[in-house]
Amino acid sequence: MSTTVSHDIDRVPDAAELERYRAEAREWLAENMPPLDPRADPNQQTKEHVKDLARRLHSGGYSGICFPREVGGAGLTRSHHRVFCEEAADYELPIYLGTPGLSIIAPPIMEFGTEQQREHVAAMLRGERLFVQMMSEPTGGSDMAGALTRAERDGDVWVLNGSKIWSSGASRADWGLVLVRTDWSVPKHRGLSMLLLDLSLPGVTVNTIKMVDGSEEFCEEFFDDVQVPHECILGEPNDGWTVANRLLFHERQSVGGGSPYHFNRPKSARSSARGSDLVGIVGRNGREADPVARQLIGEAHANELVGRQLISRVSDAVASGVLPPIAGSLLRLNTGVTAMRRGSIALGLAGTEGATWEDGDDADHPADQFILRQASCIGGGTTEMQRNLISERLLGMPREPAADKDRPFNEVRRSRREENTR
Ligand SMILES: Cc1cc2nc3c(=O)[nH]c(=O)nc-3n(C[C@H](O)[C@H](O)[C@H](O)COP(=O)(O)OP(=O)(O)OC[C@H]3O[C@@H](n4cnc5c(N)ncnc54)[C@H](O)[C@@H]3O)c2cc1C
Repeated sequence: MSTTVSHDIDRVPDAAELERYRAEAREWLAENMPPLDPRADPNQQTKEHVKDLARRLHSGGYSGICFPREVGGAGLTRSHHRVFCEEAADYELPIYLGTPGLSIIAPPIMEFGTEQQREHVAAMLRGERLFVQMMSEPTGGSDMAGALTRAERDGDVWVLNGSKIWSSGASRADWGLVLVRTDWSVPKHRGLSMLLLDLSLPGVTVNTIKMVDGSEEFCEEFFDDVQVPHECILGEPNDGWTVANRLLFHERQSVGGGSPYHFNRPKSARSSARGSDLVGIVGRNGREADPVARQLIGEAHANELVGRQLISRVSDAVASGVLPPIAGSLLRLNTGVTAMRRGSIALGLAGTEGATWEDGDDADHPADQFILRQASCIGGGTTEMQRNLISERLLGMPREPAADKDRPFNEVRRSRREENTR
């Protein structure tokens, strides 16, 4: 297995080098990237817009700051990446390219992929290809290793059947990374494979799912006898769980804010995230002097500061081997609970004003954020699952009993509904 990077992303550059980099990035951003509209929802960026932003970044050498030069990255360090994200806080970035593409899917391709498969990473960095991750299934997402979507070998191809759901932005993607069952006669973790799937292949159907706020970010996919070339298996056949584990590590880092491949923006009480400009909200309803409002803003601000410290502390500890990779769950858990709390604080500060608005009113709408706030505790693995991982694998507490452990997957009892998906 090769490593994610062929250079030392943890090298600490000297202050002068970083200041030079900061000044160059600042000038380049001002000349080349569109300014951020703080009210625009980055999840609504169209496919062409994401690709255009990615191409601009690539032309300046900023699309893959921590990726190795062999795939078109800049071969620089976490510190350069952090400096760039700070400078880019007020500019539009190709968010959908960063997550899941560069921060969750590209690292396992770099680790397990053949030279030919690594071309996917180069194409992502050039803004030519967008990827979606397809792990969750209608029967449940937490038990990812219980995947029922299957692929059977037929000569040089794998024949794919089944369905996936909750895939963020699949309608914008060109390719997907799909976890499938390829051997039913062994325990569940041992019969999985990871497939790189061209979404334009015959037999792939992608439908969008309309959310409660009207957005159509989530998708469901159906696979009917899709013929996937054998060279699209990432890693070894039936060893997909090894790849999935690394994908989950990078997902926790990304969702938790600690990934060096993700376009993350520093937040503040004047966060640019929609519906969460807390200072703006109290200003609009004249509560600047209200001690309760001030206390709530202070709480949100303290959570942000603690979150930022936690990210650098845990990321450094994982990079130096002081903590195991599973410690990324601490970041994922903290991001989920603080984002949820921030959504509640924003609506509490706005009061009834936050829940009603006229068409065309372009002020922040905290109610939008409030009704979707639980998503931050579900996407990238639920907070309950993170607590399980922290207790069992970080603190060494007893493992949750699992009736299907060590039992061939085709002997595991399932509901009739699940059986029908076979
Ligand atoms: C914003 C967002 C983006 C997403 N993007 C993607 C994506 O791009 N690709 C993709 O494949 N999926 C994606 N998902 C799906 C996500 O990974 C799943 O929703 C998640 O893993 C939970 O699966 P589930 O919804 O099926 O709930 P279930 O797994 O059915 O769980 C239901 C409830 O039971 C709890 N639970 C389950 N098992 C345990 C246990 N062992 N111990 C304690 N509690 C447990 C869960 O915490 C949860 O509260 C996304 C979800 C969100 C919200």
